[in-house]
Amino acid sequence: MSPSELIPAEKALKIVLDGAKAIGEEKLALNKAANRILSQDLVSLRTQPPFDASAMDGYAVKQSDVTSLPVCLRIIGESKAGTPFDHPVAQGEAVRIFTGAVVPQGADTIIIQENTNPGDGSVEVLTGTPQGKFIRNAGLDFQMGETLLKAGDVLTPYRLALAASMNHAELPVYKKAKVAMISTGDELVMPGEATLPGQIIASNTFGIAASIQNCGAEVLDIGIAGDTKTALHAKLQDALDQGANIIVTTGGASVGDHDLVLPVAQEMGFEFEIAKIAMRPGKPFLFGKVTHDGRTVYLTGLAGNPVSSLVAFNVFTKPLINLLSGKDETAINLLPAVLGCSLPQNDERAEYMRATLETSRDGKRIAKPFTKQDSSMLANLVRADCLVYRAVKAPAAKKGDACEIVLMS
Ligand code: AMP
Ligand code: MG
Repeated sequence: MSPSELIPAEKALKIVLDGAKAIGEEKLALNKAANRILSQDLVSLRTQPPFDASAMDGYAVKQSDVTSLPVCLRIIGESKAGTPFDHPVAQGEAVRIFTGAVVPQGADTIIIQENTNPGDGSVEVLTGTPQGKFIRNAGLDFQMGETLLKAGDVLTPYRLALAASMNHAELPVYKKAKVAMISTGDELVMPGEATLPGQIIASNTFGIAASIQNCGAEVLDIGIAGDTKTALHAKLQDALDQGANIIVTTGGASVGDHDLVLPVAQEMGFEFEIAKIAMRPGKPFLFGKVTHDGRTVYLTGLAGNPVSSLVAFNVFTKPLINLLSGKDETAINLLPAVLGCSLPQNDERAEYMRATLETSRDGKRIAKPFTKQDSSMLANLVRADCLVYRAVKAPAAKKGDACEIVLMS
């Protein structure tokens, strides 16, 4: 790798994702599997409903007995949910039945109880029901052997209920990727701590931790490393020892005297493929890999500036986490919009500009970038509704020209 090479963002993303795949599978009990990703197709172990079931409270009878009404039928027993009546129904007979109960052999019609006059050991049927109405036939919902859920499906509440109904107590899911976070910088103190002149509150990892969790991965918070090789080495080692699949550092990713992530990680055996990308915010961006304990550990070294770190996380680290977690979401969703102000020609770095978003009367999205786009300005990242994407060397554009945006979520 040539550390001076400025790599286009699209090419950098390809490099980051090249060869990355799901880290493994595990079996989880249904009640532990919410929001996880199914790693194998799921075939039903059961037919549902497993028998012809009544959909109403009433009487199970023969249709031929209720063609001329009213008629009096002898009650020969009861079928309730969980306790079927196990004799066939003959001519002139009825079985008291409740919702969810097995329709007894010989019966083909359910008379709802509102349409009867109950007697002593008999029932008078006043109004009939067409044959089969109020009977849920076996297999109405699904059949044994049917593939109802697919590998890659997110286990939403509905899918979990379906998997349970298919009689699976445990589900095969992709393992959660472990993502370690390390902040770097002598100036950093934790939120709420007393500050000295020159100090800065470490904010990056709070946004990054929440994003990691939103990806469905596990966060390992390794803390803050001061700007010494020993301190950073110890934190990186800690992340490796705790089983990280990805290490995310923030700060110290550039080429200043105190930017130590690249040299220290190289000393520890990481091989780097990216040091700088043609993207703003987020230009200092490191990407390297090492094999540790038989597994590949990835390092995405994000810039220290808050907006740079969060944008680069979304563009590069998040797709990598998704691939390692068995998800196929690696592309950034660019939507069409129009510009709410004019913009000069872009330079050699692709840009994600924080912008407000309004909808015009004719339903167009109007995106208006803020005048100030400094990568340290977190408050206007929060104020932004979207990021306007400007390609490398995008020509000057006027108010009303088409543009592409990424919605903030
Ligand atoms: P660096 O990339 O280390 O040169 O840091 C660039 C800027 O980002 C400096 O102003 C740092 O103080 C700031 N910075 C670095 N890390 C963090 C962090 N975790 N939270 C907030 N700001 C940070
Ligand atoms: Mg620093």
